[in-house]
Amino acid sequence: MDLTSTGQTTRCRVATPIYSAQLADVVALFSALDGCYRAVAAVDKDQPRVNVTAGCVPVQCGDSEIRSIYDHGFSESVYHLLSVRDDMFSIFKNTVPLLIIKVNGETLCAVVESDIPCEKTPAMQIGPNGIIEFIDEKGVTHKHELGEARGWYHFSIRVHQNRACQVDCVITDSKDFDSDALTQGRASGIRFQPFFISGAMTRNEELHGKGLFARGLHFNGTITPGNVVLSCECDRCKKSFQVRSYHAGFSNAGYFYSGSGKFTITVNDRIAGCPAALSEPNLSELAALEAALPLAPDGTKYRYANPFRCPHCTAPYIDFEANPGSRPGEYYGNYFVGAELLRYEPARE
Ligand SMILES: [Zn+2]
Repeated sequence: MDLTSTGQTTRCRVATPIYSAQLADVVALFSALDGCYRAVAAVDKDQPRVNVTAGCVPVQCGDSEIRSIYDHGFSESVYHLLSVRDDMFSIFKNTVPLLIIKVNGETLCAVVESDIPCEKTPAMQIGPNGIIEFIDEKGVTHKHELGEARGWYHFSIRVHQNRACQVDCVITDSKDFDSDALTQGRASGIRFQPFFISGAMTRNEELHGKGLFARGLHFNGTITPGNVVLSCECDRCKKSFQVRSYHAGFSNAGYFYSGSGKFTITVNDRIAGCPAALSEPNLSELAALEAALPLAPDGTKYRYANPFRCPHCTAPYIDFEANPGSRPGEYYGNYFVGAELLRYEPARE
C-alpha cells in the first residue's frame, strides 16, 4: 500500500531537509514496537521515506509523516501517536494488526481490520518444541507449545466478523499442501483452542469451564479425525496442553476421569452403569460401577462427574459441576498426548 496511490496524502517535494538522524529515529521508533513493525529508511529522488511493515502488511511513510513522528518527541506509544494524528495516519489505523501470529518469535502473519472475515494459509517449517503465539491489538497473548511434531506446518487461520479466531494446522513433510494427507492418515493435525480477539462482543471468560463443543474444539455433526490433537489453553494458568479425543459413541465406550485429572479410563457401555454417549446415567447403577472401578495409578478415584483438568495447575478445564447437564453431550473422551488411555476390564465371574 502506497500513500501516494491511495490518495490519502499527497507526497510533495521536501520543503525542509529531513536529516538522516530523523529518519534513523523514526526507524528506531517502529523497530522498538515489540517486533510488530519493521522499518527501513530510504531516500528516493530526494524524498525521504520510511518503508514500514506492520505484520505482513507493507506501508510507506512519506516525508510529512516522518516529520510528524519526529516532532512528536517519541514519548508515547505509537498507538497514542496515531490517534493524535488521526487524519494523517488514518492509513495506519487500518494496518495496526488486530492479530499477529508468531512462531518461535518470528512473525508468521498478521490480520488487519480490513481483512476480516478472512482465512490465511501460511506454511512454515518448524522443528520440535516450537511455540506459536497469537497476539491481539491489546497485547493479549494466547501461547501454545507445538509439541514434538516437526515438519511443514500448513496453517488455516480464520478470523470471523465477530472477531472469533479459529486456527488449525496440518503437519506434513512437504512444503506443498496436500489436502488429502490428513484424511488419508499421512499427516497429523493440531486444532488450537479458538478465541475472541479483544474488542469482540463475546469475552473469552464466558467459555471458562465449558465443554469442547462450546469451546469450538469439536463440532456437532462433524467427526474430528483421530490424528488431530487439540491444543487447549488453561482458563486459569493460561498454559497450553495437548489432548487426544476419542469418540465415545463410535467406540461404544464411556469414559471416567480420575480425581487428579491425570488419568482417563474407558468402560464398555454395555457394562451396567456406564452411560452410552448422549444418554443420562442410571444413578444407582452408576454408583455401583464407580465403586467397582479400580483406583487410578495415583490413587485417586474415577468418577463420571469428575472434571477434565489442566495438567499444569489442575484447575477444571471441562467443569461438569459448574455446567450441570453438560456431561451426556460431551461424547468425546479426552486424554493427554503422551499418556496412555486406560481400559476397564471387569473381572469375569
Ligand atoms: Zn492450568
